[in-house]
Amino acid sequence: MEYRFVWTGFFAVFAALTFCSCSQNDKMRPPAVSFKIQKAPVVPRTPGQMGREVGIKVSYMPKNTYARKRASSMRPRFITIHSTANPKGDANAHSRYLNSGKSRSLNWHFTVDQFGAYQHIPTTETGHHADHSGPGDQYSVAIEMCECTTHNPVVIYNKTAKLAALLMMRYNVPLRNVVPHNYWSGKNCPAPLMTNGRPGYKWSWFISRVDYYYRCLQAGR
Ligand SMILES: [Zn+2]
Repeated sequence: MEYRFVWTGFFAVFAALTFCSCSQNDKMRPPAVSFKIQKAPVVPRTPGQMGREVGIKVSYMPKNTYARKRASSMRPRFITIHSTANPKGDANAHSRYLNSGKSRSLNWHFTVDQFGAYQHIPTTETGHHADHSGPGDQYSVAIEMCECTTHNPVVIYNKTAKLAALLMMRYNVPLRNVVPHNYWSGKNCPAPLMTNGRPGYKWSWFISRVDYYYRCLQAGR
């Protein structure tokens, strides 16, 4: 009897400890993401409809900010995908940061979070985000994806893919010119979509989403 009591007690404590540490880990862990490429039937959309699904708010940086004073006009040929590497700031926080002028020369076109996208500068104006005024800055529209831990990353990836598809259509950008920041500088960016610091299966999944939404736009014409 005594033995059984001791063992039962031991298992109860063990189970309680295991359960506690599990639930704590679950709070720390971001939501599970499946990067498996899946075939989906095309759902035709107009650019207006897809734009509303993204939820684009325009809040341009003041023209007298340091970054915008250094900008030149641009005809976009690439779309560059970044992620913020900031676990706290949402799109609105990044918009306020850029509009304050505190970012100095650094700026980009869009920031996407779970609830929508902020546009910071016109898509016909160069930003400063990819390669120190190299071709990445001179010829690409930049989209930053938020990494706030309270937002759902899958929603952010899909909104970003829709925004990229809209820009592809508007500026006749081919799918191969939708590139990660890594393409221009070798940086591990967008980190959540890189594999060992390079484009791999997660990036392929993302590009398959961009392609899918582009086909939805084409079908909606
Ligand atoms: Zn980047």
